Amino acid sequence: MTKNPLEKAVESAVRANHYLGSQFAKMGNAEHPNGVIVSAYRVANRAMAKALEEDNQLLAAREVLRNLRSQVSTGINEIFRDAEAYGIEEAVRQLSFYDVTISTSTPPPGQSYQQASTSVLAQFDAEVAAIESYIIAGLDPVLITGDQNRSGLLTAGKILADTAFWATTLLWASFFGSADRYGGADQYDKQAVAVLDMRTTDCCLQVHGQVKPYSKPFHLTGTPRFADDIDWSPFHWRCRTSIVLYSSRYDDGVTDRMRAGAKYVLDQRANGKQFDQHPADAFVPGI
Ligand SMILES: [Zn+2]
Repeated sequence: MTKNPLEKAVESAVRANHYLGSQFAKMGNAEHPNGVIVSAYRVANRAMAKALEEDNQLLAAREVLRNLRSQVSTGINEIFRDAEAYGIEEAVRQLSFYDVTISTSTPPPGQSYQQASTSVLAQFDAEVAAIESYIIAGLDPVLITGDQNRSGLLTAGKILADTAFWATTLLWASFFGSADRYGGADQYDKQAVAVLDMRTTDCCLQVHGQVKPYSKPFHLTGTPRFADDIDWSPFHWRCRTSIVLYSSRYDDGVTDRMRAGAKYVLDQRANGKQFDQHPADAFVPGI
């Protein structure tokens, strides 16, 4: 059976969600300890422990931090550039499902990723300033490097969270920017598409399938959430929820199935059971 444009857009949104998941893995996290940013911090932490044993601790520490900054900068720039390009491609792809052909073969590349890099590196530099003041104050090095069970000041946590935030933000900002440019704002509503697995937040289960006018924000009721009304994802830290261009003309039950799937997962959780599926999808099979 040929899929209608909305079904294709939802499928594409699920792929965008998996793409973001793979970008988060590329940076590194608990399940992906060899991601570029997590590995760079691990190496820096070992080097920092040695640096703090040297006579001129500050000089040695600064060298470690300079190297780390350059690796973080390279890593995030690549992730942000890719995410922004993906958002443009996603807009072109979703419009093509609705038979809107984009006349230019290559849409103009986005530039907002530089702003995102500036923001993350400002966070990095603030952390460097804190580390330097600990060294100057002669505080115990373990407060910087951490121990077996705890992170010290030199940890990837906040940088990873900020990078994930910006990757998702850039993807959907460039998606909407491009869709606008090609007339999407006049033609379509928008719909939030989460993928359902054991990691889907209550926030995104509640908003899954929600349709809003193109220029109006989504209304969030679940937790966690950054605010009650937000234009596009991320709706919370490490949010993977995608957005589709929506037309009710093609909604022959797609939204109902999404809603029923989310309700099923919420009911399971309310009964203390965990729903999971691999790969995660916008729907629950058989529902
Ligand atoms: Zn989410």
